[in-house]
Amino acid sequence: MENIVLTSKKISIVIEGTVLEKLLASIKNKSLETGGILYGFKIKETNEYILTGITEQQKLDQVTCCSYNRLDPNHLKIVNNLWKEDKAIMYLGDWHYHPVDFIIPSRTDYQTFNRNTKESKTDSNFLFYIIVGKQEIKLIIYKKKREKLLDIQKISWNKMN
Ligand SMILES: [Zn+2]
Repeated sequence: MENIVLTSKKISIVIEGTVLEKLLASIKNKSLETGGILYGFKIKETNEYILTGITEQQKLDQVTCCSYNRLDPNHLKIVNNLWKEDKAIMYLGDWHYHPVDFIIPSRTDYQTFNRNTKESKTDSNFLFYIIVGKQEIKLIIYKKKREKLLDIQKISWNKMN
């Protein structure tokens, strides 16, 4: 798949095609929610963020039809190990799957985004949350400072190549 480039309030976000492919593969034939971490890097001296990878559901995660709880410490371990090899790599947010066509973030989703934004020890000034659905994905952008919700963008799967 091709990379997607989004702009929002002076920041630019690139979602690499391989990330989109991995998201699609992770949700294939899933009837329950699933999810993981988004990682990547920021281009120095710019406000450009590149999402280069995801982690997938781990053993200790809690999953139901309508909730996903990233409990397994392996997610952060995976990103930490990547960071050891490339110091530019950092945690940039989370993703999870709603097994429905169109995405409506729940109250719990926003509470989780707020908490993760507050608690994450990333150097990034912005954090990104992707909710994947069958027809579309939603990218929810937070400013780290004061856990401020900045923007929500929608991308339809059928507009991606
Ligand atoms: Zn959700």
